[in-house]
Amino acid sequence: MHNVIGRFAPSPSGPLHFGSLVAALGSYFHARSQNGQWLVRIEDLDPPREMPGADTIILNALEAYGLHWDQQVLYQSQRLEDYQAQIDAWLERGEAYYCQCTRKQIKQSGGFYLGTCRTLGLPEKECSVRINVDSIIDHFNDLRHGKISIPAPLAKEDFIIKRRDGLFAYNLAVVLDDIYQGVTQVVRGADLIEPTGRQIHLYSVLGQRVPDYLHLPLAMLPTGGKLSKQNHAPAISTSDVVPTLCSAMQFLGFSLPKDVQQSSTDEIVAWGVSQWRISQLPDEIEVITPFSIGSS
Ligand code: GLU
Repeated sequence: MHNVIGRFAPSPSGPLHFGSLVAALGSYFHARSQNGQWLVRIEDLDPPREMPGADTIILNALEAYGLHWDQQVLYQSQRLEDYQAQIDAWLERGEAYYCQCTRKQIKQSGGFYLGTCRTLGLPEKECSVRINVDSIIDHFNDLRHGKISIPAPLAKEDFIIKRRDGLFAYNLAVVLDDIYQGVTQVVRGADLIEPTGRQIHLYSVLGQRVPDYLHLPLAMLPTGGKLSKQNHAPAISTSDVVPTLCSAMQFLGFSLPKDVQQSSTDEIVAWGVSQWRISQLPDEIEVITPFSIGSS
């Protein structure tokens, strides 16, 4: 038996919206229903896309929704040296390499990177860093959706672990941090199904145990498109919490009895922990939600 550790890992690009609340709740219920720890990590890896103060707004919102975390909040900006040390070790062993190809060039040659720079021995200048992908991860198991296949060109690609602009890639940071924090279960939105194969590849290169994966349905706008900070999803209310909490739980497949809906935030969350079942989640990967949900 290992200790169960789940986590919620928001990027501080804006306040929590309905879709991110769903991810926070799903990861919380799944970890807490197994008496596990639940950690919060602020993924502040991409300063140009961040909103000053968003971390505090997110943490306050989690508190307001009764989602209390364990341990200290980890910030990815505290971890840059570790990311670089891992990249240096791979470069030294020839397991990663510098690449000068631009997105435009890759697009012109069919959209997938074909390993053009792998044997060129390029220097660091104006290059991204890619990892060698020799053993291919062509599927993984999702706790709700079962076997998910990864299309061959994507699964075969030597992918970027450090960007040309010097920022560390999300796939690298998320895996190194989940290992560092001992995370055993990754519960997040279905928009992150696609990079999961790459993340599993990193676990296997590092010789680490792959966590369980559960991808939650994505909250979609009635007009199509994901509810996200980019398309201005409204911030969830932190003053009138219960109606939004109940909507997010219904979205996750709970049928909340009237008396539960009339209880306090902490009681509703505790009820959710006691009732949580993966099988209650909708079958669909995308679920339409009224745009007005959670607007304050
Ligand atoms: N930081 C990512 C996001 O906000 C989530 C990463 C993850 O859960 O793996 O979309």
